[in-house]
Amino acid sequence: MTLIHLLMKEVRVRFAPSPTGALHIGGVRTALYNYLLARKFNGTMILRIEDTDQTRYVPGAEEYILASLAWAGIQIDEGVGKGGPHAPYRQSERKPIYRQYAQRLVDDGFAYYAFDTEPEIEAMRERLKAQGDSNQQYGSGSRMQMKNSLTLPKENVKQRLDNGESYVIRLLVPVNQEIRLADLIRGEVNVNSSQIDDKVLMKSDGMPTYHLANVVDDYLMKISHVIRGEEWLPSAPLHVLLYQYLGWANEMPQFAHLPLLLKPDGNGKLSKRDADRMGFPIFPLNWIDPATKELATGFKESGYLPEAMINFLAFLGWNPGTEQEIFSMQQLIDAFTIDRIGKAGAKFDIQKAQWFNQYYLRGKSDRELAEYLLADLKEKNIQCPIQKAEKICWALRERITFPHQLFEQSQLFFNAPLSFDQQIVLKKWNADAVAVLTTFKEELKLQSSLSAESAKVLLETIATRLNIKLGQILQALRMCLTGGASGPDLMVTIELLGAEETAKRITFALATLKIPVTH
Ligand code: GLU
Repeated sequence: MTLIHLLMKEVRVRFAPSPTGALHIGGVRTALYNYLLARKFNGTMILRIEDTDQTRYVPGAEEYILASLAWAGIQIDEGVGKGGPHAPYRQSERKPIYRQYAQRLVDDGFAYYAFDTEPEIEAMRERLKAQGDSNQQYGSGSRMQMKNSLTLPKENVKQRLDNGESYVIRLLVPVNQEIRLADLIRGEVNVNSSQIDDKVLMKSDGMPTYHLANVVDDYLMKISHVIRGEEWLPSAPLHVLLYQYLGWANEMPQFAHLPLLLKPDGNGKLSKRDADRMGFPIFPLNWIDPATKELATGFKESGYLPEAMINFLAFLGWNPGTEQEIFSMQQLIDAFTIDRIGKAGAKFDIQKAQWFNQYYLRGKSDRELAEYLLADLKEKNIQCPIQKAEKICWALRERITFPHQLFEQSQLFFNAPLSFDQQIVLKKWNADAVAVLTTFKEELKLQSSLSAESAKVLLETIATRLNIKLGQILQALRMCLTGGASGPDLMVTIELLGAEETAKRITFALATLKIPVTH
């Protein structure tokens, strides 16, 4: 640990999703970057559930977030599902806390009560529009024409409050003030306060809005860095104002707004629709939409390994500044720095995700791969001894990107082909092939055991004896065994099928296919 690290205040980061549906894969990236920073500096990773918008609450979404993070290997130190010194970590359970800060802002003259109804606000917008005003917000240009504690007599305000009239609390945004924000990724961001409307801080149901709750919690939970998606950048100046008005400017966390995830083709933000259109997942785990009952297949269920996903996501916006592409979680922790996160949006290149998956899958032992295969075989009631499953996996390991392909590609070992690829029949089924294969299947019957090597020697001997080039008939042999032209190593296939089954399949092909006319 360097001196700078020691001097730095304790790193406390939070992932603060709203339980409004399945967690988007971009959310996993946000969580990951937070986690990497926390781990790098022996800091704390917090999970806070931002559920103040009850209208958007989706049952099951919180459990889904927890399960997704667990799958990805992103560990939470403090927060929902874990507890900690700042509990509760679910904002809906912190309602009274926000109330008191909203009140403080009102008392200090930084916020005000507003009693306007929806139709009244709508009428104000219409009026401003008719006047040709481009800014139709509830703010410095309109607030003095509205029904709020800035315009109504004090007594009247008190009466309304005492009568339990419905109201919201709005932030009193100053006119024409430069708000400055130093973002660790974007650099200095300056916004004129006139562009900001008088945001609602407290809703009429007594719940805070995202803005108030977010700032209050980041302060109370002693958050050192706010690392979140770029879509929150427009809200950041408002948050800066809140820190100032609440007297917390010196404790304000550092901001880092992550670049957008872009669709693989063309520009624009990656959406579920793009993912559906291009046939790849967008959610980490399977998600059944509770409203439509529609199933969206997750990365996990599509066969992506968490380590591949993490490696892939880390590179969506960040790079180590070297050629190295393969990083374990620990290596990412060691290499990660915020200053290597780019500003530009990152294209979601699914082929790259598959490349990582293939890489990590190949790193698994035959035994580990066999476990995937055996699980799938078991589901289909197919018996297979572990040694055979391991050997099959060994033969298939270079050919797969996803574990389920082991099952698909292993089918040739369990089911003999019933038909044959006509292209190969046309091109390769000739008198030479028939001659070699006829002899081969006869001699196979004499073999007690057969290995890939001994099968090759046997075939070579026969070919030499018949004065036929072995290379010329191998495709026909493969076709007899698999029905097609592709598959794992042919001699290994023979070994795995065994002498008897190999002979049986060749016999079937010889009987089924017409004996070609000798040329
Ligand atoms: N609740 C916000 C979301 O759902 C979090 C924004 C933030 O991290 O400040 O993305």
